[in-house]
Amino acid sequence: MILDTIVCVECGGEARVLRADDPDDPYAPGDVVAYRCVECWERFDVVVTDEDVEDT
Ligand SMILES: [Zn+2]
Repeated sequence: MILDTIVCVECGGEARVLRADDPDDPYAPGDVVAYRCVECWERFDVVVTDEDVEDT
């Protein structure tokens, strides 16, 4: 499961995922998840790791 929000490294605000994880088309390791900060509109791309998609 990927995170819906992360902390913006630019301003400490909340960065929200642009495409939520879809059960029909889940993220896989190596995919890029894009987040955009609601405070400063900075965009962050995070690469999905095995750990992110583990079923725990
Ligand atoms: Zn920000």
